Amino acid sequence: MSTCAIVGINWGDEGKGRMVDLLADQFNLVVRYQGGSNAGHTVINDFGKFALNLLPSGIFRCDVVNILGNGVALDPEHLSGEIERLRSAGVMITPDNLKISNRASIVFPFHKLQDELEELRLSDKKYGSTKRGIAPIYGDKYQKKAVQAGEVLTPDYLKARLHDILEWKNLTLSGVYGAKPYDEKELWDWCEKYFMPLAPFICDTGKLLHEAEKDNKSIMFEAQLGALRDLDYGIYPFSSSSSPLAGYAPLGSGAPWIKVDECVGVVKAFSTCVGEGPFVVELFGEEADRLREEGGEYGAATGRPRRVGPFDLVATRYGVRMQGATQLALTKLDVLAYMDKIPVCVAYKLADGTVTTDFPFTPHLEGATPIIEYFDGFKCDISEIREYNELPKAARDYVEYIEEQVGCKITYVSVGPKRDEIILR
Ligand code: GDP
Repeated sequence: MSTCAIVGINWGDEGKGRMVDLLADQFNLVVRYQGGSNAGHTVINDFGKFALNLLPSGIFRCDVVNILGNGVALDPEHLSGEIERLRSAGVMITPDNLKISNRASIVFPFHKLQDELEELRLSDKKYGSTKRGIAPIYGDKYQKKAVQAGEVLTPDYLKARLHDILEWKNLTLSGVYGAKPYDEKELWDWCEKYFMPLAPFICDTGKLLHEAEKDNKSIMFEAQLGALRDLDYGIYPFSSSSSPLAGYAPLGSGAPWIKVDECVGVVKAFSTCVGEGPFVVELFGEEADRLREEGGEYGAATGRPRRVGPFDLVATRYGVRMQGATQLALTKLDVLAYMDKIPVCVAYKLADGTVTTDFPFTPHLEGATPIIEYFDGFKCDISEIREYNELPKAARDYVEYIEEQVGCKITYVSVGPKRDEIILR
């Protein structure tokens, strides 16, 4: 059996979806192992252009089995809409090619409401939540107040648990936020409409992966977001509420005993960061507007304009280490074609004047400024190029400099969003 994780090295939005879509045909199973509908993996292929929030990006390959693992925060309403959208574009989705872990945590409408109420309460101190209920559901999971997907198969058990959970949740909704308590009947109707129809997809994905292992099948793990958003190792509290690290992949899939053989870290040729939190390399004004426009840097899930900046060696080196990346895919190199000089952040100067190349603990990121070096721009359209040696020398110098500095081989150079717009080195 071979296993491979496709993960984000930075703040997310690196182009993981396009890499999973490209490589999925080499695998028998593709597993999303964490996060929820706050993801937006953009995939452009023969079926069209899609921003996948929950479905694994292997869903377009008809002989791949796609799994939503136990580490996922699953919003049935959102998933139903996504399945409908893809089906209407001709994508086949059945209980044979989509499996949902019976241990995935269910996002209810009250989680989204709580998310929204908390961001409102935080006002200018907000964390930049996508308001998809992700922090509330993961919080509830650790308080053992979440519903697991498989509970839908035992309706009486589910009904009793929902009653108790709602009683507890309403203490927060009305007591803390002064909102209207959630109605049990309304919630049950929602379950009948969105949750129960998912029953045929739900199974023990651990057992499935165990069988797959015995049959020597290959597994791809698909992460959402990036290393710097990891709950433990990212820019906490501006992190996500789950672990997008490759190390969590087996755990969040249903098979904690499995080892990840290869880890493809996806990294953009420049930096972007959506939402709040420290982002040392951030550009402002015209320079930022131009890069944002050239890269089309608007969130796939939310449409929010992304913050942009030059490639960040400090953050990338840290991300490569945390992910245990064995190889890298550098995406969006084509976007830099307009630049006369390409900036790269080589170190941070901290508020106390210390210069460091080690990614600092979050409080030290405040007031830190980037130390920038410049590379010659390549100044031409490279999107048609498919052979590495045909790239302009300045582009190759840039790729090889990054590779040497982060200490990890760049095996893919992506020069466009479409499936074939890629150079394999
Ligand atoms: P993900 O969440 O990591 O899958 O990334 P997103 O889908 O949120 O964002 C990546 C964006 O970059 C999407 O709009 C992709 O279509 C696009 N993209 C991916 N690779 C390339 C590339 O090499 N060049 C260009 N121009 N766009 C790319």
